[in-house]
Amino acid sequence: MARILVTGGAGFIGSHLCERLLAEGNDVICVDNFLTGSPDNIAPLLANPRFTFIQQDVTNFIYVKGPLDAILHFASPASPIDYLELPIQTLKVGSLGTHKALGLAKEKGARFLLASTSETYGDPLVHPQTEDYWGNVNPIGPRGVYDEAKRFAEALTMAYHRTHGVETRIVRVFNTFGPRMRREDGRVVPNFIAQALRNEDLTVYGDGGQTRSFCYVTDLVEGILRLLRSDYALPVNIGNPREMTVLEFAKLIIALTGSRSGIAYKPLPEDDPKVRQPDITRARALLGAWEPVVAVEEGLRWTIDFFRGTSS
Ligand code: UDP
Repeated sequence: MARILVTGGAGFIGSHLCERLLAEGNDVICVDNFLTGSPDNIAPLLANPRFTFIQQDVTNFIYVKGPLDAILHFASPASPIDYLELPIQTLKVGSLGTHKALGLAKEKGARFLLASTSETYGDPLVHPQTEDYWGNVNPIGPRGVYDEAKRFAEALTMAYHRTHGVETRIVRVFNTFGPRMRREDGRVVPNFIAQALRNEDLTVYGDGGQTRSFCYVTDLVEGILRLLRSDYALPVNIGNPREMTVLEFAKLIIALTGSRSGIAYKPLPEDDPKVRQPDITRARALLGAWEPVVAVEEGLRWTIDFFRGTSS
């Protein structure tokens, strides 16, 4: 049992982390400013005496009373639509927010885990992506605000590790889905499910030939917690290696929802990566043979049920 702080704890992944850590008997402090997170995500946790919520922007100094064993830094907008609307906040939370969270870890002697991203690989020229690939990122494009902030966050994390001896972990999160994604966050999973449930055409960007690999959120959380408890400081990819095209994914959502929707082709956003698939050799080797156990179809059924239940 430990006392663990989660930044972005009211977000999609953050709230699943808080829930899992509480179920294990840990004390959890959730810090979130609700920029893209939501009070609904943590509402069921508020009754738990082991759960504390602090409403704060982590780009400002973070004060926490008492000891901390670990800090999981998950605060950030995480959807391409959000980076377009919140470019400066995205850059600030990845840079200033990571600095504040690392400073707190140093002060408390806490272990620090950074939520990094497959976006550090940009539009990758190596496929599937291994952790030793340095990436192909356009720093001045619309996605650069997220990609470069996360790359800076990785650099700062390694600097605190090397200079101050902070125990650090870096997870590179690939596309993840599940309940509590925001319906309007603009990413492909909520977009397609919401469109399918309304029997509207699914908006496939470009020709739909670009690929992604989708991981169910509980598999991601399991990988993150195994990484936290490992002794490995270099980045580790966590994601589901099953790759599919966006068009295949659209057809899968139509089939699973039983929708009458068709496909509507829309322009491809700038710098949209053409392929993405994690090489999880490192995670398998270091994290007790970790690999995803939830089939994409199964996870999608649960996610569709969530969206049905909250449909207005
Ligand atoms: N996409 C799409 N239709 C949508 C939303 C997204 O075709 O309504 C595509 C997008 O262009 C990208 C993929 O789906 O190729 C995944 O997009 P998402 O925004 O979920 O995240 P990304 O993996 O690009 O960060």
